[in-house]
Amino acid sequence: KVPRHLFLDAGLDHLAYLDRPLPIGAKQTISQPFTVAMQTHLLGLKRFDKVLEIGTGCGYQTAILAQMGMRVFSIERQKSLFMIAQKNLTALGYHAPLLFYGDGFAGLPKFAPFKGILVTCAAPEVPAKLLEQLAIGGKMVVPLGVESQKMVVIEKRGENEFVTTEHGEYKFVPMLE
Ligand code: SAH
Repeated sequence: KVPRHLFLDAGLDHLAYLDRPLPIGAKQTISQPFTVAMQTHLLGLKRFDKVLEIGTGCGYQTAILAQMGMRVFSIERQKSLFMIAQKNLTALGYHAPLLFYGDGFAGLPKFAPFKGILVTCAAPEVPAKLLEQLAIGGKMVVPLGVESQKMVVIEKRGENEFVTTEHGEYKFVPMLE
C-alpha cells in the first residue's frame, strides 16, 4: 500500500520495486525493502503503539509504520532529508507521523516512553538515552557495529533488565552525532 517510487527521485522509478537500497541524496539511502520488513517485524508492534524511528531519511519506513496504524515519531539529523520526508508524507496523506529535525542519540524524552524504538542507521554502540526512553515491555531494534552491523533486538523487561537477541548481518549508513 505504500508506493515506494514516490519516495524516490523520478529518475529511479524503474528501480523502485527491486529489493535493494537506493540513493536519496545527502549521501544517504532508502533501506532495502527486505530490511524495512525485517526491522518492522522485529519490533513486534501493533496498531496504536507508540514508536520512535531514528533516521527518517525520505520517510518510507515512517510511512510503513503509519500505514500499520502506529503512532510514529521520527528524528532526522539532516535538514534536507527532514524536509523531503515532510513533503513526501504530506503528499501521500500521512499527516499523523510527527517528524523532528535533531539528533537521534538524544531521542525525544518529552514524548517517552516508547513501545518500540527503531534505529535505521548503524550505531557504534547502544545509544544509552534511547534505552531510557523505552517502555517496560518494549523493544529497540538497532543495527550495531561500525564496518558491518548485527541486527540487535533489546527487550526491556524491567527498569534495569534487558534481554538482547541477534538477527543477522546488515549494512547501514552510520549514525552520526
Ligand atoms: N528510515 C529510512 C532510512 C534512511 S538511512 C528509510 O526508510 O529509508 C538512515 C538515516 O539516518 C539517514 O537519513 C541519516 O541522515 C540519518 N541519521 C544518521 N545519524 C542520525 C542521527 N544521529 N539522528 C537522526 N538521524 C540520523
